This record gives sequence, structure tokens and C-alpha cells, in this order.
Amino acid sequence: MNGPKNPENNVGEVWTLAERREGRLHGVSFELLAWGRELADKKDSPLASVVLGHGVSDEDAASLIRGGADKVYVIDEPQLAQFLPDAYKKSIADLVRKYRPDIFIASATSQGRTIMPTLYAALGTGLTADCTGLDIEPGTGMLIQTRPAIGGNVMAEIRTPDRRPQMCTVRPKSRRPLAPDTARTGQVVRHRPADESLASVLERLSFRGEPSIGLPIQEAEIIVAGGKGMKKARNFRTLEELAGLLGGSVGASRMAVDLGWVPYSAQVGLSGKSVTPRLYIACGISGAVQHLAGMSGAERVIAINQDPEAPIFNSADISIVGDAMDVLPRLITEIKSIKNDRAAGGAVR
Ligand SMILES: Cc1cc2nc3c(=O)[nH]c(=O)nc-3n(C[C@H](O)[C@H](O)[C@H](O)COP(=O)(O)OP(=O)(O)OC[C@H]3O[C@@H](n4cnc5c(N)ncnc54)[C@H](O)[C@@H]3O)c2cc1C
Repeated sequence: MNGPKNPENNVGEVWTLAERREGRLHGVSFELLAWGRELADKKDSPLASVVLGHGVSDEDAASLIRGGADKVYVIDEPQLAQFLPDAYKKSIADLVRKYRPDIFIASATSQGRTIMPTLYAALGTGLTADCTGLDIEPGTGMLIQTRPAIGGNVMAEIRTPDRRPQMCTVRPKSRRPLAPDTARTGQVVRHRPADESLASVLERLSFRGEPSIGLPIQEAEIIVAGGKGMKKARNFRTLEELAGLLGGSVGASRMAVDLGWVPYSAQVGLSGKSVTPRLYIACGISGAVQHLAGMSGAERVIAINQDPEAPIFNSADISIVGDAMDVLPRLITEIKSIKNDRAAGGAVR
């Protein structure tokens, strides 16, 4: 992996915001480094990751360096043990004012979506939320921020010509992390923000996670997703059964969520989540562009739809034309029978 020519030079650094949950680095930190590494290499600039919290270990910093960072800025203070948006924002603003990065990327997680809008306002720059593509403009070295606009029907390219840093969020799971490079070395810079930056008017009382059927869809290797064609909430039990058999999770189109059949946490698409499973089984989903925007990272797609002209089939590796309520029970019976055969040591079909 090629590092920058002058990693000591702060001018023009590309920064990513690492995230810690329950005292551990979250996977999005490494996805962001994959985005950042490409941008930094194109700009020939250092790539730095910023990590806040309390008890940030040397191993945390080392893993970010293995993941692609040339430098890690650590803000490790007891006041930052919990995610308190105002203290986090002020502490990061302190760091930005001191080291003046050129580009600053965060993940469009609840943390990133909370910090970045207040941070860009505090810094007097701009922010492009939910980017699906990032690039460096040849010649100017400026960040090109691409995101869907006008209901997902056009892709807008956005630049921040006059203000720095150029700030954006990218969707979780929009990039796979780089393979850890154990030979990579980097610098760790510890920063202590001003006391007033660490002060917070907030107190965390409790944390309530989103409900999900199986693993959260963004972490699932297999997703069985249903749309309006599933007809009613009760039919999602069939999807749950199939997902359970395959060790996967249940996803949904916005229609299914709007109809109240499944929680919003299951929604895949432009206004839901982006997912990157190995297998995505779309049942009774038409394949609107806004849905495809969230599932285009799936490695393999099986679509079940009774309309042979359904657009989802253009994105499918295997297309099954039929009534989902007929196809799914047959699929479940077949998988159960294969599993039983295997458990009994019988021939694998
Ligand atoms: C700004 C914006 C953001 C949006 N964000 C999202 C988003 O994040 N996610 C999202 O999904 N949508 C999103 N949408 C909505 C999107 O445009 C579609 O309306 C939605 O995806 C359609 O959901 P669906 O495929 O379940 O329903 P439909 O389009 O109604 O399709 C139902 C499908 O089921 C099939 N079907 C019917 N009966 C059966 C059966 N018995 N067996 C098999 N197939 C059957 C039909 O042939 C049809 O193809 C957004 C729209 C806008 C404008």
C-alpha cells in the first residue's frame, strides 16, 4: 500500500471519524479508512483517523493504522466515556482548528449524523450527507461528493470550493474495509481539548437499540426481504422462518415499513439502510430505484415476483416468477429437507 510522500505535513490531510461503541472500535471506522485511503492517495496527502472516548488503547490506534491510516488523532478523556454530542462536537472542532484538515469524512450512523451537522455549522463550512461516491477532482484536488438527489432519480455531484474542511458523511456498508496491513506504520497524536470543550449540558440516561429480526440488516450475510407483494404482516413470518433457517435477517421495502408490517430498522434503500450481504432474497419487491440504492452492494440476488416484467429481475442473479406465498413455503420445505439429510449424514442434494 502506498503511503503519502510527507505524512508529517498537516496541510491537506484527509480525516476520517472513527467510532467506538461499548469501548470497542466499530466496523464503520475501517470502512471509512477504505474511502479515505483512496482519496488521500489520489491527493498524495496523509490519511488520519480521529478517535474519541475514554480508555482508547494503543491497540485501537494500531488497528486504525493497519486499516489504512497514516496518523491517528486520539482524544481520550473521562468526559468522553459516553457519546455526548455537544462535548464530542466541541472537542473535534478544537482538533480541526488546530490541525486544519482538508477533507473530513464520517459515517452516516446515528453518531455521524448527530455530530457532523453541528460540527460543520460550528466550523462555518459545508456538509454533504449520505454520499454514495467520493472522488478527487484532477487538477484542483477538490473533493467530489456524489449523492442521490430528487428522490434518487439523479446523482448530484457536490463540491465545497471555498470552505475547509470539505465535510461529508457516507453510508455505512458502502465500502468494504481494506485488508489489515501489519507492515504499515503510523503516528499517534494525543490531543487534549480545552476544558470548556469537554463540558456537556447533556447526561446519558440509557440506551435503547433499534428492534431487528435477527442480526441488524447491515451486519447480516443473508437478508430475506419482503415488499408490498407479501400482502400482509402475517406473511412476514414466512420470511422470518426462511431467514432463521439460513442464519439471516429480515429486510423490507419502504412500502412494507409504511404499511406497518415491519419496523423501520428493517428498511433497505435510499431512505433506509444500505446493505452488503452475500445473498439478498427479494420477495414481492418491485425493484424501485430507491430500493435498489440500498441493496446494490449485495453479492448475489434472488428475486421472487409474480410479474415477469418486474424491474427487480434486472438486478437478480436468479429470477423466480411466481406467487411468493407459493414459492417460499416450497423453498422452506426443501431447505429443511436438505438440513435433515445432512443431520442424518445422508447424501447432500
Ligand atoms: C425519496 C424517496 C425515498 C424512498 N426510499 C425508499 C427506500 O429506502 N426503500 C424502498 O424500498 N423504497 C423507497 N422509496 C419508495 C419506492 O419508490 C417504492 O415505492 C417502494 O420501494 C416500493 O415497494 P415495493 O416494491 O414493496 O412495492 P411495489 O412497488 O408495490 O411492488 C410490489 C411488488 O410485489 C409484486 N407482487 C405482488 N403480489 C405478489 C405475490 N403474491 N408474489 C410475488 N410478488 C408479488 C408485484 O408484482 C410488485 O412488483 C422511496 C421513494 C422516494 C420518493
